[in-house]
Amino acid sequence: MEKVVSCETIIVQLPTRREHKWTGLTEPIGRYVLVKLTDEVGRTGWGEAPALKDWGGEFGRYFGESPSIVRTVIDTYLAPVAAGIELGNAVQLHARMDAVIKGYPYAKAAVEFAYYDLTGKALGVPVHVLLGGRSRDRVPVTHSIGLLGVDEAAEEAARVVGEGVRTIKIKVGVDPKRDVEVVRAVREAVGDGVDLCVDANEGYASPGEAIQTVRKMQAFELKYVEQPVAGIERIAEVARAIDAPVMADESAWNAHDALQIIERRAAQIVSIYTTKPGGLYKAMEVAAVCRAAGVVCNVNGSVETAVGNRANVQLAAAAPAVTLSCVVPVSTPAEQLGDRIAGIYYRDDLIETPMNFVDGAIEVPSTPGMGIEVDEDKVARYRVDG
Ligand SMILES: [Mg+2]
Repeated sequence: MEKVVSCETIIVQLPTRREHKWTGLTEPIGRYVLVKLTDEVGRTGWGEAPALKDWGGEFGRYFGESPSIVRTVIDTYLAPVAAGIELGNAVQLHARMDAVIKGYPYAKAAVEFAYYDLTGKALGVPVHVLLGGRSRDRVPVTHSIGLLGVDEAAEEAARVVGEGVRTIKIKVGVDPKRDVEVVRAVREAVGDGVDLCVDANEGYASPGEAIQTVRKMQAFELKYVEQPVAGIERIAEVARAIDAPVMADESAWNAHDALQIIERRAAQIVSIYTTKPGGLYKAMEVAAVCRAAGVVCNVNGSVETAVGNRANVQLAAAAPAVTLSCVVPVSTPAEQLGDRIAGIYYRDDLIETPMNFVDGAIEVPSTPGMGIEVDEDKVARYRVDG
């Protein structure tokens, strides 16, 4: 097969629809690193590292990666080992990247997505075929309500349910009283037919505080409680004390983490990213470990631009363990946006055609590679690195 000949990094900043915050986040979303791989016949493949310096593993287990760190790692270490590699060999790409520098899963994921995109185009098949096939044709979307005021949260929730969304995730972990209040208000606004989840992003001070708070929230029925506190042992403590299932996110980066969570019976649900384990190939390994233990999964992320979100959709399409609604954007360029807000976090996006959103779900594209073409004019417009 053809070989990769070049690897370029580009930093973009997309305009946000509203401020989107969660516990611990100190930067705006949407300032991310894109990777453009070119092969010897001139085909291009695109990837993205939605890297945040505030997003790491618990107790210093994994570090944050800022856009400038990602760029340095890719340009200095990953681009030279990606160049010259034949398409169709993700295993070798990972071996080379892991041999040249330890860690930096977001940087490695961005290169790997571009490589899968290129390989799919070269073979004329969608990326999910390269991952083993298609477990589903549509990916149900969970709309994420950031740390908003109580009234604003309830209003946005009602609006997105009107647009077809069936699962809402509410960011909590700030102040127990406010958190219970916002869950109550959202439940009142959306009625009984909608699944509600909460994500504390490790925000509660102790398992005890989390347990007390979640017990009050459970009056409004929760589908799951995501990462109430930091630490596998500490989420296990919460999981044993509450009725709602606990989802591990910050505690679950790669297949080894998933194994530890399963061994310690710390959570019944694992949140898989394309990025935390370092790419789609390794995300499928996380999914396989979870499936073997009967742990169910969703695909979740860092509010990617369309470039990275295309990989989310391919993973959610392929992995049998991903049975839950996924916290992925409905990537839509400004020209097609209208006044819709369900799954919309940006005022514009980097693809030529929108992701197809039908009955609260994104239709999995069946075109080659990642399935939706990147709009290079938009990439140029939102480029912030000169
Ligand atoms: Mg989370």
